[in-house]
Amino acid sequence: MPAATQAMTDSVVLITGAGQGIGAAISRRFADLGAKLALVDVNPEHLQQLTSSLSGAEILTLSADVSNKEQVGLLVAQVIEKFGRIDVLVNNAGIIRDNLISNISEQDWDQVLDVNLKGAFLCCQAVFPTLKSQRSGKIVNIVSRAWLGSIGQANYTSSKGGLVSLTRSLALEFARFQINVNAVAPGAIDSPMTQGLTDQARERLIRMQPTGKMGKVEDIAAAVAFLASDEAEFITGQVLHVDGGKSCGLLSL
Ligand code: NAP
Repeated sequence: MPAATQAMTDSVVLITGAGQGIGAAISRRFADLGAKLALVDVNPEHLQQLTSSLSGAEILTLSADVSNKEQVGLLVAQVIEKFGRIDVLVNNAGIIRDNLISNISEQDWDQVLDVNLKGAFLCCQAVFPTLKSQRSGKIVNIVSRAWLGSIGQANYTSSKGGLVSLTRSLALEFARFQINVNAVAPGAIDSPMTQGLTDQARERLIRMQPTGKMGKVEDIAAAVAFLASDEAEFITGQVLHVDGGKSCGLLSL
């Protein structure tokens, strides 16, 4: 049996932005592995729809905004109260507010940085005492291939580049406590986020992919499951690009 499909029956996995898209696929993956799930989303309706399809798994759903320190503290306390531990944190919640630099409003800059970067910081900080006392834990941050640079996404790429730096710094800071911190960098993935693009933007995005197609949400879930598994024990501070080769360079046809 491949490592990433080994059972995680006693593991408690906390996933943010779990309600749809990549977060929902990660939730399904860990549910299939038998993990206990703490699913966080700002949108309770998304969570309701997801959990009705996850039969059998022990689940705690939490409606919270990851950019709000008080709500993050509360949600982590609720996870500890229900399950008594946290083994895996997946910082997946993320938003886009794309525009060229001249047109990015201060609000759109702040919102993207708040959710994508500060949200992950707050969650890492809130779970750290628990992981430290356990002397074990895995944190997987969902960044983006776009952290390397992307026109019209200065706010988003800055947030994801910052999250890569956070990943690397916490990997060093947490290593002595046997806590691994890694990142998965998706390329273009078919999810509600990209389904929200105009047809023209979606077609352009697909044309830019070496594979000529988008990835699936399950491609990201598989990489997260691997980095959260025992097989990834000696991997920390790394960025795993799951992007059909897009991060290798520009296409020239
Ligand atoms: P998605 O379909 O928009 O799903 C994101 C989920 O997070 C939604 O349920 C959303 O709720 C929730 N959320 C948003 N803000 C939140 C907050 N402040 N607190 C808690 N939950 C919040 O996005 P996705 O495509 O699955 O993307 C998931 C992650 O992968 C993001 O970090 C994204 O940047 C990254 N990523 C995606 C792609 C891609 O091509 N899809 C590529 C690279 C990286 P609402 O819908 O109500 O806002």
